[in-house]
Amino acid sequence: MDLTTELEKLNCGLVKKEEPLTKYTTYQLKGTIKNVIFPENIEQLKKLLNFLREKKERHLVIGSGSNIIFSADYYDGVLIKLNKFQDLKIEKDKVFVESGYNLSKLAYLLSKKGLLGLEFATGIPGTLGGAVYMNAGAYGSAMNEVIEKVVVLTPKLEIKELSNAELKFAYRQSFLQTNKEYICLAVTLQLKFGDIENALALIADRKQRRLNSQPLDFPSAGSVFRNPENDYAGRLIEELNLKGYQIGDAKVSCKHANFIINIGKASGQDVQKLIQEIQTRVFEKYAVKLKVEQEIIE
Ligand SMILES: Cc1cc2nc3c(=O)[nH]c(=O)nc-3n(C[C@H](O)[C@H](O)[C@H](O)COP(=O)(O)OP(=O)(O)OC[C@H]3O[C@@H](n4cnc5c(N)ncnc54)[C@H](O)[C@@H]3O)c2cc1C
Repeated sequence: MDLTTELEKLNCGLVKKEEPLTKYTTYQLKGTIKNVIFPENIEQLKKLLNFLREKKERHLVIGSGSNIIFSADYYDGVLIKLNKFQDLKIEKDKVFVESGYNLSKLAYLLSKKGLLGLEFATGIPGTLGGAVYMNAGAYGSAMNEVIEKVVVLTPKLEIKELSNAELKFAYRQSFLQTNKEYICLAVTLQLKFGDIENALALIADRKQRRLNSQPLDFPSAGSVFRNPENDYAGRLIEELNLKGYQIGDAKVSCKHANFIINIGKASGQDVQKLIQEIQTRVFEKYAVKLKVEQEIIE
C-alpha cells in the first residue's frame, strides 16, 4: 500500500498527494511535496504523528509558508497543515485562539473590537503558530509582548501549557525553534482595551508604508536578512548595486534590497544561491556576516 492510501485509511484529515510547492510557500517555489495532510483536531494530529514516527516518514508542521525556503525541488515527506485549528474565544481582554488562525486577520478583527496590542501584526502574512515560532514582529513590537501562554503538543504527544517566560522569546527567536518537535496548538493573548479609531488609523498608515516600500506584487517571504547591529541589511545590499541582481528567477527586489522576489519559476536553490552570493559580496566589502531570517528546509 502506498503512503497516500495508508494516510487516507488512517482517517486523520484530508490527504493530498504530489502537491505543487508553489501553493505552500509565499515565495511560490517550484517543486513538489509528496503528501500534505490537514488534521481536523488534536486527536487526529496525535494519531498522525504516531503513525509517521513509526513509519519513520519525514514530516513537518508548517503555517502559511511565509518564512521558509525548501532547498530541494522534491520534499520527500509529509507536510502537516493546521488550517482547521481555527477556534477563537474572547473573554474581556484575553483571547484564546488556535494556531492555524491567520495572524493578519486576527489582528484586524481584534483591533476593530478595540482589543489592542496586535496592531503591528496586520501586515505579517502567516499563521499564529508560525508567528509564535518566529516571535514575529514589526515596528518595534513582537508577539512576546502580547502572549500570556501557549498550548503545545510535546514530543511525548502530551498537551502542555508553556508560559511566556518558558517560551524564551528573544528577537525573532523562541523556544519552539530549538525544540522542533513541539507543536503550537493554541495561544492565549493578553491585550488592552483602547481607542478603535486610533488603532485603525495606525494600521492604515502602516499598510501604506508597506505598500510604498515593499514589493508586495511579487511572491517573496519578506525580509531575507536580519539587520546587522546599528545598520540595515538593505542598505549594504543596495550600496553594492545588487538591486535587480538575479539568479534563475530569484531576483533582488529593485524596490527593497532586503527582499528576494520570485519573478517566474524560481526554485529554492535559486533563492539559496542568491542568498549566498549576497552574503559573500557583503562580507568581502564590509566584513559583515549577514544572517538569514528565513528558514531553510533541507
Ligand atoms: C510580504 C511579507 C512580509 C513580512 N513581514 C514580516 C514582518 O514584518 N515581521 C516578521 O516577523 N515577519 C515578516 N514576514 C515573515 C513571515 O510572515 C513571519 O515569519 C511569519 O510569522 C511566518 O508564519 P508562517 O505561518 O508563514 O510560518 P511558516 O513559514 O509556515 O513556518 C515558519 C516556521 O514555523 C514553524 N511552525 C509553523 N507553524 C507551527 C506550529 N503551529 N507549531 C510549531 N512550529 C510551527 C514551521 O515548521 C517553520 O519552521 C513577512 C513575510 C512576507 C511574505
